[in-house]
Amino acid sequence: MRRSASSEAHDPGFGVLDGGDAVGVRAERPGRPAEVDGVADYPHEVALSDRALLLEQLDLRTDCSRCTGLCCVALTLTRSADFAIDKPAGEPCPNLREDFGCAIHARLRSSGFPGCTAYDCLGAGQRVTAVVRAAHGGATWRDDPAAARDAFAALPVVTQVHELLWYLSEVLAHPDAAPVHDDVRTALDGTSPLADLAPADLLALDVDAVRRRVGPVIDRASALVRGAAAGRRPAATRERPSATRTRPSGTGTGTHAAPSTSRPAATVRRRLRPGADLVGAQLRGLDLTGADLRGALLLGADLRGADLAAVDLLGADLRGADVRGADLSRALFVLPAQVGAAQGDPATRLPAVLDHPSHWT
Ligand code: SF4
Repeated sequence: MRRSASSEAHDPGFGVLDGGDAVGVRAERPGRPAEVDGVADYPHEVALSDRALLLEQLDLRTDCSRCTGLCCVALTLTRSADFAIDKPAGEPCPNLREDFGCAIHARLRSSGFPGCTAYDCLGAGQRVTAVVRAAHGGATWRDDPAAARDAFAALPVVTQVHELLWYLSEVLAHPDAAPVHDDVRTALDGTSPLADLAPADLLALDVDAVRRRVGPVIDRASALVRGAAAGRRPAATRERPSATRTRPSGTGTGTHAAPSTSRPAATVRRRLRPGADLVGAQLRGLDLTGADLRGALLLGADLRGADLAAVDLLGADLRGADVRGADLSRALFVLPAQVGAAQGDPATRLPAVLDHPSHWT
């Protein structure tokens, strides 16, 4: 992406490449939508309502029409409840058509491929397709073994970079994280060009170093947002179960009708921590506001009607979690793939930038 004048004014300090200049070696990004090319770099003052625009500008919305079915080739499929077949990495799925579409797209779940409906690359597929085409004279993985090698190796790298950009965009849009917004802008300026690196530079990229650089600001934002939400909780609900209520929204403006919830018992509260094993946990109808469930195992957990305001769900495993009627609209760091792996319904509330999966009927 282009860099704004203000972003050029400071050194992001991302020494993450082996012998390369992160900005100087990046590839052009062909194929971006005209409306995205027509706007300046991401705004340095954004609100929650602008996050959708920010995601477009960072090209983090998956657009399979600009991809060449990379996930259907590059990734391993293991016969399971998610996939009906075994397929090694680098071998095209037998359902992948010549035009890079899926022959069973309309019936993936009934055909035994629900894992495909949950997967979301956050736009890494279209980005890698463009970068590889630029480096290999327009060739795709089908045309050129070298292009295939680059594409398959670059996909997981760019996916991780896009994931970090997704989180940073969320922090930048959150008013309760304002104290770290300057640091987030620095992190965005340093991280966004990495996704456009040429294949050789992408393969040399130390993603762990990028994560170490970006992670602390995301951690601080989480603490700020969770602390602010806990502070806004009405005093009565800190002590005892609450009835249906209206309370300030996460934006600090207007009101937000929360589901009827009750505070978890002390025994449950003790289990609400990062990395917690909450497989199959009964969390139905609970007010989980401000909990840190980063990396928690919530497989099959019963979250029906729960309020997850300012709950940090970064990396949480929500496969099969029952979120029917739950309020995740203000949950933190929720990815499309997490939503797609959970089981919700039309009453489930999601962050504004996420759509209800088509299989949530
Ligand atoms: S079933 Fe369709 S979406 Fe899933 S990997 Fe195969 S081609 Fe891709």
